Amino acid sequence: MSASISKLLERARPEILAMQAYSSARMEAGQATIMLNANESPWAPAGSGDSELNRYPDPQPKALRTRLAELYDVAVEQILVGRGSDEAIDLLVRAFCHEGRDTIAISPPTFGMYAVAARTQGAAVIETPLAADFSVDVDAMLARITDSTKLVFVCTPNNPTGALVPLATIERLATALRDRALVVVDEAYLEFADGAMSATSLLGTHANVAVLRTLSKAHALAGARVGTLIAHAEIVALLRRIQAPYPIPALCVDAALAALSPQGVAQAQERIAVLLSERGRLSRSLPAAAGVLAVHPSSANFLCVRFADAQKTYKALLALGIIVRDVGRYPGLAGCLRITIGSPQENTAVLGALGLQEVAA
Ligand SMILES: *Cc1c(COP(=O)(O)O)cnc(C)c1O
Repeated sequence: MSASISKLLERARPEILAMQAYSSARMEAGQATIMLNANESPWAPAGSGDSELNRYPDPQPKALRTRLAELYDVAVEQILVGRGSDEAIDLLVRAFCHEGRDTIAISPPTFGMYAVAARTQGAAVIETPLAADFSVDVDAMLARITDSTKLVFVCTPNNPTGALVPLATIERLATALRDRALVVVDEAYLEFADGAMSATSLLGTHANVAVLRTLSKAHALAGARVGTLIAHAEIVALLRRIQAPYPIPALCVDAALAALSPQGVAQAQERIAVLLSERGRLSRSLPAAAGVLAVHPSSANFLCVRFADAQKTYKALLALGIIVRDVGRYPGLAGCLRITIGSPQENTAVLGALGLQEVAA
């Protein structure tokens, strides 16, 4: 275990490995009661309640980190909290990829931020298209990966196809790339995958696996920007060196802790159950609509639907005030729209707009 993390860490950029993390004033506060080390105002701003908004927030808010560790069933040291999982993607690319030399690997069509983060950093993107059934082609991926490949992103359930990637696929990648590349498993939609097991179950045996989770989807907190990277403690420590000094605003920490209270989690679970039932209703009803060619099986809170004339459908929905995502520009998704599962009323509006009467559950 420890041997394999040290080899993997050597794959990070040497200048980052040599760096000290920025030691913020807030981190040095310790037991002090008179805090005169951060040039903060001694008074809370108007209307801030108990939030101590005059103080810089804890860089890795302890209560939130602890709660997230419980929620995801991992050790606190394995948790990095960030400004959405988007920030974790960016930190990983910046920590591992040397500009102009290193690469990341993805299987399109998939979430766009991996390639955006890589291109921003000047890292090339090695693309291995998904198979026709939207499964990850591990052999083709491994054949394209080179010594310059530092990160391999696997999104499960995948956005925008909705397909779940079996853990065995992720394990094969991790085993083949041991000591060479970090396999980053983006589980932004795992809560919708009918109890599918998280890749965190591989962390004990594979130091080169990292998992991304987010509160933005199933926990209804997209506006608060709270994402989590779960990885070996040394990867977490590495990324902390280059993370912004105070990434999580205090108000967002409060909102996240409230949403993750026992009542908050119970409410999220009820809503997930509603969304899964609604996903079933839409999947069963949509094939009967004129112009629908295929409804791809989904383990997420959206459906990827292929239409005979996606542009026409997109415009017809828009004319009724319904906006969906046109994903037709992605390879393999020509003619597809990605439709988020909304409230029961919203979904009924979609079915109505497509000329379907209410279909009994
Ligand atoms: C929505 C989404 C995210 C974004 O998560 P944030 O925590 O809101 O940054 C990450 N990955 C995938 C695949 C997503 O679809």
